[in-house]
Amino acid sequence: MNFAILRPYLAKKLTHVVFNEQDVHYFVSDIIKHLGIPDYLKGIESKSCGNGNLATYDFFSRILKINLANIIEEANKYYEADNQNLKIAFVNLFILLSIIHELVHAFQNYAINETDYDIYKLMKKEICFVQSMGDEEFNKHYTMFTYERDALVKSHEEILKIICDHVRNKQIFDFFRNCLIQFMLSGYTCKRLTVVSPLEHNFKHLFNEEVPSVATSNIYNTLQMGFPIKVVNYRRFKKYGKILVVRKNNLYKK
Ligand SMILES: [Zn+2]
Repeated sequence: MNFAILRPYLAKKLTHVVFNEQDVHYFVSDIIKHLGIPDYLKGIESKSCGNGNLATYDFFSRILKINLANIIEEANKYYEADNQNLKIAFVNLFILLSIIHELVHAFQNYAINETDYDIYKLMKKEICFVQSMGDEEFNKHYTMFTYERDALVKSHEEILKIICDHVRNKQIFDFFRNCLIQFMLSGYTCKRLTVVSPLEHNFKHLFNEEVPSVATSNIYNTLQMGFPIKVVNYRRFKKYGKILVVRKNNLYKK
């Protein structure tokens, strides 16, 4: 699965001109085509997403909404650079980040409907639950949900790949890598020798059900999904997360 495909003209624009709506449409349609999931995008709407959201994907109507002006405004809050090209690159990366996040949701929607993996059954459960939550409550707790963590992690990973391929700036790379690490560690509550995962919290307090046993292959995937983790491994990621992100995503200098 690759969400980081840039047409040559977009790659060229990346550090020179802020993307416009047409660029965004091309990018979205290229990725949807690459993923082979045309049925999971019924339309792209510009502007209003409501509640100050930058972009949204509706799992039921399958409509993607993008508020480009809001995304650009938000990006400008985060990054100060004297270098105009780097500033433009940062804004464009922020645009791509917001869109890729929603496209990961579109892919999840496909997987929920057309595959039989347990992880997508869990996501379906969460998405149904979230329908009953108010926006404010959801925005406060969204990193508690596996489907959101998955979108947050994958979108940041893809942006790091794009930075390595097209921008190659340490400050910008570090910014997005730090965001990624923060998201992976968020949602867990540490109490001395134990750490409570988002999965455990949700099943105990939101779904009122027994916590299912989940299979995970490594620390990285465990944190990505918000699954139970040993405190020693949680601390290990806190300490070595920067290296683990580079290693997992093959982000070595080219
Ligand atoms: Zn999301």
